[in-house]
Amino acid sequence: MVELVDHSVKYGDFVALKGISIKIERGEKLGIVGSSGAGKSTLLREIYRKITPGASLIHQHLALVPQLSVFHNVFMGRLDQNSSVQNLVNLVYPRSVYKEPVLEVLSQLGMADKLLSPVSLLSGGEQQRVAIARAVFRDSGYLLGDEPVASVDPYNSDVALELMTNLNRTVVLTLHKVDLALKYCTRIVGMSKGEIVLDAAAASLSESDIASVYRTC
Ligand code: ADP
Repeated sequence: MVELVDHSVKYGDFVALKGISIKIERGEKLGIVGSSGAGKSTLLREIYRKITPGASLIHQHLALVPQLSVFHNVFMGRLDQNSSVQNLVNLVYPRSVYKEPVLEVLSQLGMADKLLSPVSLLSGGEQQRVAIARAVFRDSGYLLGDEPVASVDPYNSDVALELMTNLNRTVVLTLHKVDLALKYCTRIVGMSKGEIVLDAAAASLSESDIASVYRTC
């Protein structure tokens, strides 16, 4: 369980989160929606800070190493979970025992054929799926994502969200597509001007209920 109580965040004089309280139970699939600038990324980051160390985080800016292969970038998800010697050996000579679990995650995302491609040669959507693969590969009870499928095509967005939200983990995602939030998350938090203006089970909401979150901005 993770909880923020009356939690505020300021950037200089600007209050980005205004006394937010939220409790996230183990195993929940939480979707955070709202207009640009509503405070979604700030809230996600504060949740991440509360959980750290150990949570998987898909950054909006991906944080991949473009010169390295897809394998190496995904493998990095567990760097701190291996010994330094294992990591060094793997950097120079990736062994099949390490490649197989990475390949398994990539296969689930339809990217097995990219295992040895340098990340710099991939499209933006493919790079985003590598960042998703790295977060899924990381052995953690929490998976957080900041607009994780923003550059991914509709078919592969569905594949990736299906994979992420079916993991036996607590999942928190900011999503700008309301239909995807409703389809894959069990709970929806709507944000406007640094405040939570909606917090309800996805099953109890329609797209028009969520539209009101955007109207309050
Ligand atoms: P969202 O993810 O909903 O688009 P953010 O959490 O990124 O919103 O930002 C919320 C507000 O805080 C925005 O108005 C944004 O301009 C501001 N903000 C975010 N990060 C910073 C920062 N590092 N410095 C100053 N203002 C920031």
